[in-house]
Amino acid sequence: MKIFNRRIYLKNKSEIELIKESALIVGLTLAEVAKYIKPGVPSNYLDKIAEDFIRSHQAVPSFKGYNGFPASLCISINDVVVHGIPSRQVLQEGDIVSVDCGVYKNGYHGDYAYTFAVGEISEEKKLLVERTKKSLYKGINEAKKGNHIGDISHAIQSYVESFGYGVVRELVGHGIGKKMHEKPDIPNYGKKGKGELIVPGMVFCIEPMINLGTPRVSMDADNWTIRTLDRKPSAHFEHQVAITEEGTEVLSTYQYIEEVLAN
Ligand code: MG
Ligand code: MG
Repeated sequence: MKIFNRRIYLKNKSEIELIKESALIVGLTLAEVAKYIKPGVPSNYLDKIAEDFIRSHQAVPSFKGYNGFPASLCISINDVVVHGIPSRQVLQEGDIVSVDCGVYKNGYHGDYAYTFAVGEISEEKKLLVERTKKSLYKGINEAKKGNHIGDISHAIQSYVESFGYGVVRELVGHGIGKKMHEKPDIPNYGKKGKGELIVPGMVFCIEPMINLGTPRVSMDADNWTIRTLDRKPSAHFEHQVAITEEGTEVLSTYQYIEEVLAN
């Protein structure tokens, strides 16, 4: 299937239901992983938990093999913004860990992420994580029929920059469906009223990647790991939304994750 540069695939109701089913498995997988987020656990153990869980739901990890990515999760600790490769590195008290998960089932992808605290974290990290999550909901509030993508971008950027945080420019949210990354791009920076018009049938991922310090990032020699240039921490949350005639539906949920974290 050929995708033209600016072509956006609009989804019908039954396709949105299938995407939601894949997203649900992401949520359940992240909840399973949440049980093991503790000091001393190697990040590749979390990856194994996730892969087994996804496959036990007759689904496939979207990330594994994607452009050669070697694992089922992206696990990004502290100054790693996104695309961290699971390894023998053990979680330590005070770390913040973004876990990003993709699931492919029935021809459609689910993809979303949550940033976890390992044990007690510093006040500065706690605020970064809380505000990054809040910025995601501010973006979601602007994701509605008749708005533009720039309204989402602006809502996220203006909120987090009010705290002096840096918004990563090099990586953005994205449309999702039969492919994990589709048009349109959803930047976390931008101007109100700019960008694509939001229309029913769009399904996309909004995913603020917010740095405590500089917005600038670098890539490790592994060609995956994205780190803050100043090595200060970064947080990442991602949800999937569908735009319909009736309104905006968030297809992803943190409910199962947060039930685990509450125990
Ligand atoms: Mg994504
Ligand atoms: Mg993701």
